[in-house]
Amino acid sequence: MDCIINVEKEVDNVIGKFSSVQDKTDQILMDLITNLQKLQRDLIFLSTSNQCELSGIQTVIINQNIAKIRDTISQVAMNHREIHGAVSKVGKVLDKNFISNYSHLTSDTFKQEGLNPYLLNQAIIEHFLRQGMLEIGEELMREAKISVPEEKKNPFSELNDILAGLKKHNVKPALEWIKANKEKLGDRHTQLEFKLHRLQFIEYLRQGVHKQKEMIEYARQNFQSFADDHEKEMQSLMGSLVFLKSGIAQSPYSHLLDPINWNEICDIFTRDACSLLGMSVESPLSVTFNAGTIALPALLNLRQVMLQSSVPSVWTTKDELPIPIDLGKNSQYHSIFACPILRQQSNDSNPPMKLICGHVISKDALNKLTIGNKLKCPYCPVEQNPTDARQIQF
Ligand SMILES: [Zn+2]
Repeated sequence: MDCIINVEKEVDNVIGKFSSVQDKTDQILMDLITNLQKLQRDLIFLSTSNQCELSGIQTVIINQNIAKIRDTISQVAMNHREIHGAVSKVGKVLDKNFISNYSHLTSDTFKQEGLNPYLLNQAIIEHFLRQGMLEIGEELMREAKISVPEEKKNPFSELNDILAGLKKHNVKPALEWIKANKEKLGDRHTQLEFKLHRLQFIEYLRQGVHKQKEMIEYARQNFQSFADDHEKEMQSLMGSLVFLKSGIAQSPYSHLLDPINWNEICDIFTRDACSLLGMSVESPLSVTFNAGTIALPALLNLRQVMLQSSVPSVWTTKDELPIPIDLGKNSQYHSIFACPILRQQSNDSNPPMKLICGHVISKDALNKLTIGNKLKCPYCPVEQNPTDARQIQF
């Protein structure tokens, strides 16, 4: 954080200099232009009045003006140099406050195995396709000589078209997509479909009283099949019609116009479409990149400590970081079970086991607590046969 504040201070300094120099220069140049325009008028007057030679005073005025132009140029150049100095200082502060070489952070095993450029390029291409940057994705495919089959590319472009439509408050492409994928979507399709119809209705609502006819017609055509499951929401939509003339924005239904509704539908649609296509909602590349960015400061600190206290390298375990790093709730993809007895996280060889009383302990704890073929639950304490315990899958 301190690094950012240090750099910000310098950037503010540059911005301040820029605006003060700009104000000054603007004023000087304006004065100069006015002077020159006056001189030009005088000269034109001279040439039209058949007076071929300049008078002594006129020569002096012209010479004065030339000198003034020279002065102004050197003054502007000096101001410019001042800005240049401030800008280059920002660069120096950046270098001083941020580390630019991270090569020491890669582990040796990673170096030995080498980075698989094919897989990396594939991940980058998939990321671009997901983000709707099809042209960049295709260019990279050409340059990296990777071919992605059409059937893998098409769903991405279709999804992006639909999302672009939703962002422009157009629900039609999304509704068509739902129709085409009705069977695969199963129960989810009704939820999504109702939400889209609701938004179309709200869109008419937003456009005002002249859309009243369309609105009622739309509700009649599309809402009937949702009457049982979405009764309350539909009542609220119909209730809003009372305020159509006086303005929804000032009515108790103003929340219907909240733009968040459209952001929400984009999220819901992306989630459903991704799960239908068997993809994760977020791009794996952005998830990896974000996780790396969050973890980096902790790893840099660790390296500093290791260098100072000459601790032998602790970065030896193959698939593990030397310290636990908390990436925040958004990066938790799996539930974690920690055994309340042994205080260890469960893993494949030591999975969580549910006892018949409902309490859950790890397999290692279960083996340790078993005496003969009897186990006493450490919590309730029901006596039971350890073979009755069932493994729990997260
Ligand atoms: Zn128990």
